[in-house]
Amino acid sequence: MTDTAVSYDPDNIFAKILRGEIPCNKVFENEHALAFHDINPQAPVHVLVIPKGEYVSPEDFTARASDAEIAGFMRAVGETARQLGLTANGYRLLANHGPDSRQEVAHLHVHITGGRDLGRLLE
Ligand code: C5P
Repeated sequence: MTDTAVSYDPDNIFAKILRGEIPCNKVFENEHALAFHDINPQAPVHVLVIPKGEYVSPEDFTARASDAEIAGFMRAVGETARQLGLTANGYRLLANHGPDSRQEVAHLHVHITGGRDLGRLLE
């Protein structure tokens, strides 16, 4: 069985955001990650958190990233949720990878959604 690994395209849209070539509505940034509002929000709060390194998927990230990058990314997820005021009522994290998930942008990203009752994920 082959996996869905693909080589990293440095011209993907999130790489361009990281290089400052196209704008984003930033929420939080640290040394290893950037969080910004999704341009097509699916909930009252919908933010994407991306690592600054060139990673396509969770398994690519955990295989190649340093411990500091992984920690920095997860800290950015938690800090972003806190700054968005989501911690009292809760929120959802979701990461798409590969064709079955219909991932659109081949740069690892975690969606943070919240601001309303999100329903059950697997309904
Ligand atoms: O997980 P998936 O790859 O499908 O999600 C990509 C997300 O990136 C979409 O929710 C889309 O609205 C968002 N996007 C964005 N800014 C862009 C291009 C895409 O927030 N410039």
